[in-house]
Amino acid sequence: MVKISKSEIPQGIVIKTEEDYRSEQVLLILQQDFLDKCYICEEKSPTSINVEHFHSCKNHKHLKYDWENLFFACAHCNRIKGSCYDHIIDCTKEDPEKYIILKFNSYPESYVKILERLNGAENGETRELLDKIYNGAGTPISACEAKNLKKRISRELKNFMECVENYHNENDLKLRTVYWENIKKMLSRESNFAGFKRSVVLQSEKLMQSFGELIK
Ligand SMILES: [Zn+2]
Repeated sequence: MVKISKSEIPQGIVIKTEEDYRSEQVLLILQQDFLDKCYICEEKSPTSINVEHFHSCKNHKHLKYDWENLFFACAHCNRIKGSCYDHIIDCTKEDPEKYIILKFNSYPESYVKILERLNGAENGETRELLDKIYNGAGTPISACEAKNLKKRISRELKNFMECVENYHNENDLKLRTVYWENIKKMLSRESNFAGFKRSVVLQSEKLMQSFGELIK
């Protein structure tokens, strides 16, 4: 999860029905605000999109059509979150990276650990939810989806580490600049699974020295 800047509800948009909050206009703004990523798993351009209620409709009926409560998520994350996780870190108000750090283990089996960086009231629910998102929520479908998600995260991390290695091994200044620019893009909040790559940097003294300025 990374910090998102959500815009004010644009003038002229009225959300009073289910059709309204799933309208093309609303979707386009949410897609843009959320950097075209599911705010929970951080997959870029997800194929299944849901307009997610940050505070679930079941527990907060009055927020069903509230603009501030509408988030951009994929179906996998929306389904697992349901009405069970109403108190996770709000990435439109707080920077989740201050509190949570992700660790991708690929051996002996791919597994995502969600570690605490700074104590926060919403950390418990956030970590529990993310654990289910990345490692499965106890059903065969969620396990299968989580496995596929981890394959994509693993690919992204591999590309990133290759680029980092190339950068460190390169003596040609021009090529080094190309790698640097590439790493900068890969570490930007809008990139695919940015939180994972940024966490890799955060957890390494050497990488912090080289790229710390890119994750501020
Ligand atoms: Zn997702």
